[in-house]
Amino acid sequence: MDLSPTCCGVLLFTTVEYKIGDRNGCIEVTSHPFKKVGKINYYSVKCDCGNCFVMQQGNFKKSLGKYCIKCRSKAQTFYTKETRRLRHIWCHIKVRCYDKRNRAYCFYGQKGVFLCDEWLNSFESFRDWALANGYDNSLTIDRIDSNGSYEPSNCRWANWVEQARNRSNNVFYDFEGERIIQVELLQRYNINCQTFLSRIKKGMTLKEALTTPVVKQNKKPRITTK
Ligand SMILES: [Zn+2]
Repeated sequence: MDLSPTCCGVLLFTTVEYKIGDRNGCIEVTSHPFKKVGKINYYSVKCDCGNCFVMQQGNFKKSLGKYCIKCRSKAQTFYTKETRRLRHIWCHIKVRCYDKRNRAYCFYGQKGVFLCDEWLNSFESFRDWALANGYDNSLTIDRIDSNGSYEPSNCRWANWVEQARNRSNNVFYDFEGERIIQVELLQRYNINCQTFLSRIKKGMTLKEALTTPVVKQNKKPRITTK
């Protein structure tokens, strides 16, 4: 029976003893309880990374007891670095879908694009989905059906070319027997969008516009008076 002291229903510390092999996160108990000072139980424990140390009984089930000190700082840097950008993405989705003052609202919320309840109510649930589904700091969230909502079945992490391909206002070109979208074409020939469009405007063919080398115009032609 657990006779751990509580206050207003909140557990103050646990008097439950652990057995060899009990686990919390990466930590496993490897000894019977022993006393170091006073009445407090201590255990020898081992982290999955191989680090062995002694832990106080009360810390074992706490979140800080899930890792050894080395793994904890590693896990924290991973989470703060990855999740800072993810939180930013999550906030921006919410704004696009629910804030009528936002400029992008007319393309999202107004068109019936929303967040599923699970993601709307919990950043952690969005984060866990992201990390389990190929999230990377170079990628952006993409809806597979661009009229559909933000939900696990309709979202993926994509690079900007993939995203552009999926957009409803794509510009397509028929080039060398291939139907290809503008952004992909520009990326393939490594050419700036403005340069490309101004060349087309000047009457260049598609091939010329893509393959003519870019001349840097940082020097003004000198006017010679002679
Ligand atoms: Zn460890």
